[in-house]
Formats: sequence, C-alpha cells, structure tokens
Amino acid sequence: MSSNPYDWLEKSLATIHRANWYRSVKTIDSLPDAVVNLEGKKVINFASNDYLGLAGDERLIEAAIQATQQYGTGSTGSRLLSGHRELHQELENAIASLKQTESALVFSSGYLANLGTITTLVGQKDLILTDKYNHSSLKNGAKLSGAKIIEYNHCDIPDLILKLQQNRSLYRRCLIITDSVFSMDGDLCPLPQLISLAEQFDCMLLVDEAHATGVMGKTGAGCVEHFNCTGKQLIQIGTLSKALGSLGGYVAGSATLIDFLRNRAPSWIYTTALSPADTAAALSAIAIIQTEPSRRKQLWRNIHYLQQQLSQFNLLPSASPIICLGLTTPEQALKLAQQLTEAGIFAPAIRPPTVPTSRLRFSVMATHQTEHLQQLITQLTSNYYFS
Ligand SMILES: *Cc1c(COP(=O)(O)O)cnc(C)c1O
Repeated sequence: MSSNPYDWLEKSLATIHRANWYRSVKTIDSLPDAVVNLEGKKVINFASNDYLGLAGDERLIEAAIQATQQYGTGSTGSRLLSGHRELHQELENAIASLKQTESALVFSSGYLANLGTITTLVGQKDLILTDKYNHSSLKNGAKLSGAKIIEYNHCDIPDLILKLQQNRSLYRRCLIITDSVFSMDGDLCPLPQLISLAEQFDCMLLVDEAHATGVMGKTGAGCVEHFNCTGKQLIQIGTLSKALGSLGGYVAGSATLIDFLRNRAPSWIYTTALSPADTAAALSAIAIIQTEPSRRKQLWRNIHYLQQQLSQFNLLPSASPIICLGLTTPEQALKLAQQLTEAGIFAPAIRPPTVPTSRLRFSVMATHQTEHLQQLITQLTSNYYFS
C-alpha cells in the first residue's frame, strides 16, 4: 500500500491529452479590441464576448478609475455587511430600467447569479426542467439545488410538454431554465412558447440573457425584448462581463423576487460586493448602450454580412453574434484553429465536453471592420478543409 493518493491526477490528465480535450491559457497583451496581440502576434479577434467593443472604451476605463479613486479597490465586505455603495444601487436601478423590470440585483459574476438564484428558488421537493445545451452555471445551479432535474432536448417544445405532463404534478414547485442565446451555438430559445408553457403548467421560468444583454432587442435589453415579451413574469439573469465589458452578474425581475434573493441567495449574501471599478464600468456601459444604438446596429450589420458570406459552409443555426462552423472531430477543430491563428485570425476550437460536437466558434463584434470580416472569409474559403 505505497500508492500515492494524487497519482490519479496525472493519469486523468493523460487521458484528457489523448482525447485532444486538453486546454491551456493564451496570453493577450493589448487592450481588448477587434485586433489584439496574442502571444506576441497581431490577430483579428473572433474570440471575445465584448460584442460592442466596450471593454476597452475610454469612458468605461475613466469610470473605473474615478470609482477606484473615490471608493478604493475593494468593497471590503458583503453587501449586507460593509460592502454596499450607492454605486451598486445606481447600477441595479439602471439594469431594472434597461430590462423594464421592477427590480434587479447584482452578483459578483453571472455564474454566481445562476448558482444563487436557482438554489434559492427550488429544493428537494421541486422539479427543474433544463435545456440540454444550457450553460454550465445553470446545470451546476440545478445540481446544487437538490431538486429533481430533467433535461429536455435542445429547444424541443414537444419534448418539454411531454416531460411536463409526465412529471409536473409529482413535485411542489417547478422551474424551467434556459439560455436565451445559447452560448456555444448562437441560436435562441423559443421564448414565447416557453412562457406560455410555464403559465399553463404553473412553472417559474428562468432565462439566462448572458449573450443577449446589449445585443438583442431594440434597446439592447435582450431576447425578452427581441421576442416582445417585456413585462412578462420571468426571472432574468445576465452578466456584466460580455457586451457590458465589465465583470459581475445580475438578476432582474419582480421586487418580491429580488427582495427574497437578498435574504436567501447564499452566493449573494456570503460573498464580497462587486468592486467599485467593476460597478462603475458596468454603469457606464449601460448608459452607452442606451444612448448609442448605432453600436448595436453596426454589430448586426457585421453579423448579417458574415452569415451571408459564409452561407456555403456548415454553419450551426444562429441568430446572434455567435457563429459556429460545425466540424467532425476535435483534432480537426484544433488543427483549423491553429491554422487560422497562423493566418492572423483568433477563433477558438470548442470541443467536448463543453459541447457534444466539435466546432470553431466566431464571435462578431461591432468594432470589426469590413476588412477584418473579409480576411476571415478569405481564410475559410481558401482552406480546402472547409470546402
Ligand atoms: C458567460 C456566461 C455565464 C457566466 O457569466 P460570468 O459573468 O462570466 O460568470 C452564465 N451564463 C451564460 C449563458 C454565459 O454564457
């Protein structure tokens, strides 16, 4: 019995390597933008969630600096203890106003917003119905809640109806959870149908607007606005870290929901409040989103252009800035991502276990110039692997 209890780590890592699932970090040493310095090489950036190009915007940077000078680098405590600042309230008001909800609450990340909200709303007597392609934070929130979890097939309403009919009456509360823009696919959940099913079967409905906030809808409020569902009873989650260019997460909904979360959500109560810099940057981003719709319009022009120019490829269905090129194996995805990087284009290979099938994932930004998009198109069309 001289075995080392940590030996399995190396063996597991070796298995990850063999499957071509191994991942490691890459260093960017420039401002976040449409073109970045990646490991010393200038590349066009199709790997960023900064859809509106706000993460490097002067105004956000200035807001973060000012807030830091005024309030310091850390918020020094949880919100209920010593961490609450007027800035947090201003940000929550701005989010509620953007989303047209009664109230909103900011968390330290979108991941924590999902963990905290789901675990607070349901428990062992309850049921969660979850889309198969939901984000990791929704899946892990569901597990942590202790509720019975049933997955329905991706965006498959008949499958969801069947599962509701078979199971709803066996449980106390029921929560349906879904991404609104699916983060690794780019397609949208069938929100109007989900809302009417939730009403019909007496379920709560939680939508994760992480990739939709600032991007979807006439005012950038998200998919709920895009589908004309503003004002419906819903639990909306989102992040401040994608189109809003900062860090943090939010929940938007009724005043009662938010009040309840403030009293019960462990990942809000027992964690340090969002830093002054992050809070101020997000606040500045929301003001820009509301006053500069031209950024969103430019983003959508870029999306439509790229979709149209790449229509001969095996693109996964998408209605968002996330455009995926379906591939057959992880090796192929890795090799192509590598070739693109060498050609000056940065786009990640997304592989199992993150997704069921390998793909290259391109994120469009408002700040991509036509020539950036053209270079991507040229690279893909000239590469025989794709045609
Ligand atoms: C990115 C993302 C999150 C997590 O947000 P963070 O603020 O980065 O923690 C949650 N849900 C979805 C769908 C996401 O894409």
